[in-house]
Amino acid sequence: MYKVGITGGIGSGKTTVCKVFEVLGIPVFYADTVAKEIMVTDTLLIDGVKNTFGNESYFEDGKLNNKHIAGIVFNNEFELAKLNALVHPAVFRAFDIWEAEIDSNVPYSLKEAALLFESGSYKMADTTILVTAPLDIKLKRVMQRDGATAEQVKARMDKQLSDEEKSELANHFIVNDEENSIIEQVLVLHKKFLDIASNHK
Ligand code: ATP
Repeated sequence: MYKVGITGGIGSGKTTVCKVFEVLGIPVFYADTVAKEIMVTDTLLIDGVKNTFGNESYFEDGKLNNKHIAGIVFNNEFELAKLNALVHPAVFRAFDIWEAEIDSNVPYSLKEAALLFESGSYKMADTTILVTAPLDIKLKRVMQRDGATAEQVKARMDKQLSDEEKSELANHFIVNDEENSIIEQVLVLHKKFLDIASNHK
């Protein structure tokens, strides 16, 4: 099936854009949500995390000990890379299972991931969309949504590639600046993907 990867910086509105594709009947795999779920359901991943970061990574009831893991990987790129090397393949496994269950009449699917480019998973997509928005709007949205301060949001933004860097890798763009209609932009891309997918195995 034709695969479209979709990403955007924090607060760009990529999840909001995905909801519009869903209304059009396009299934969306939310990689970041799935990554959280499989931390407590994928036994291969759980074993890998315990072997790498210790049995105390999980509580006796099976819940993830977020504090323990965060204490190890926070501001430690080497340890974070180890965690990612466990989680990313597990997300790919989950995606394959998810995709195999999609109705064969569905023309294409979307994979939403905050770190689509940073993780390299864009290479598994046939094409990509970057959702962008001006910095002040992104800040305002996330501060409102998460009750966070501007500094907290900026610290999260600093961990991601800039829009300029992502633009070099993206094939399509949606501007979510509250002036351009996202519905119209999604409809243009939807038509394009339907045309391409009809010729795609
Ligand atoms: P994150 O990476 O933090 O998950 P995101 O890119 O997925 O963010 P969303 O969660 O879709 O972004 O949007 C962030 C917030 O901004 C949400 O509360 C959403 O409702 C709001 N928002 C997004 N787009 C618009 C828009 N065009 N008009 C008004 N509000 C919007």
